[in-house]
Amino acid sequence: MIPLARPDIGQREEELVLEVLRSGVLSLGPVGRRFEQAFATFVGTRHAAAVSSGTAGLHLAVRLAGVGPGDEVITSPFSFVASANCALYEGATPVFADIDPVTFNLDPAAVEAAITPRTRAIVAVHIFGLPCDIEAINAIAARHGLAVIEDAAEALGARRRGRLVGTHGNPAVFAFYPNKQMTTGEGGMVTTDDAALDAGVRSLSNQGRSDDGDWLEHDRLGFNYRLDDVSGAIGLAQVERLPELLAARAAVAGRYDAILADIEGVTIPAAVEGDERSWFVYVAELHSEVDRNAVMARLQERGVACKPYLPAIHLQPFYRERGHREGELPVCESVSARTLALPFFGKITTAQQETVAAELAAAVEASWRS
Ligand SMILES: *Cc1c(COP(=O)(O)O)cnc(C)c1O
Repeated sequence: MIPLARPDIGQREEELVLEVLRSGVLSLGPVGRRFEQAFATFVGTRHAAAVSSGTAGLHLAVRLAGVGPGDEVITSPFSFVASANCALYEGATPVFADIDPVTFNLDPAAVEAAITPRTRAIVAVHIFGLPCDIEAINAIAARHGLAVIEDAAEALGARRRGRLVGTHGNPAVFAFYPNKQMTTGEGGMVTTDDAALDAGVRSLSNQGRSDDGDWLEHDRLGFNYRLDDVSGAIGLAQVERLPELLAARAAVAGRYDAILADIEGVTIPAAVEGDERSWFVYVAELHSEVDRNAVMARLQERGVACKPYLPAIHLQPFYRERGHREGELPVCESVSARTLALPFFGKITTAQQETVAAELAAAVEASWRS
């Protein structure tokens, strides 16, 4: 079976993990701090605070934006469920705005149309590592007095008009689950230039402690969203290797683009002039007359892992219970019914990619509805 994803862990990760284990300092130690500093340097922000997951980072960013019960938070329905759930954690309501059919990112006009007197924040997702139109979203937020939080979980190293994602003036949340561009096992990071916001993340992730107070002094209600130093050691090694990790993924994507572009019924991922995608997944779009379930069944049978990606958040069982239905977000629903994630990781071989391409071509050919 050619797997969907696989982390790239090397000798440097082993070295740093061993260093932490031998030091006896497994949490809140110097290696965790080095990881944060190296990450901030890479992204180009003044601060970076490590947390136990991307989801935890989103939760804290939403809380620190002052979102609470009765508020609405606008976000994309074409994302991982955490980018909407983070509003629910604070008693607020996620409001979905439809996406652009080419980039799969939030359509700024739909965002503006979704604003009500209760809107408090926008969670702007950079889906599949392609930057969203953050300038337009920031401008809308400024006009209406809203906070913006960037869900950059899939976009580490991506550039919007030359500028790295994370440096557009908003708190940005990154995630390090093993299928992401870099991993810590489980983990996440919140980046910002705002010292007060950074202190807020550090306090809330550490049981509401203040920086200078006593260990048993809790200034406010907090959580245990800390990242331990063993995970931090893996993260530090991965940040050191990021240029290599990202370049390997870009090369794999380039090879897929070349060998999949001419398959009838298959559209390769969009490129936006002037922007640089960071490659998180490789998602092909099938023609509406191709039966995606038949394609997936055949690929799986032939040893090629694949996944319908992404399912629309508002059509998840839990969101249907909250009243959401088909027809609400037509662009997202159309895209999400036709997109397919293919095996994608830095160390996939050219031969494996050629197998994927050949099997995909045959599966699509055999799956036209007509
Ligand atoms: C992975 C991901 C997250 C959540 O990250 P975890 O570390 O798994 O909690 C949030 N949003 C998006 C878009 C993601 O891809």
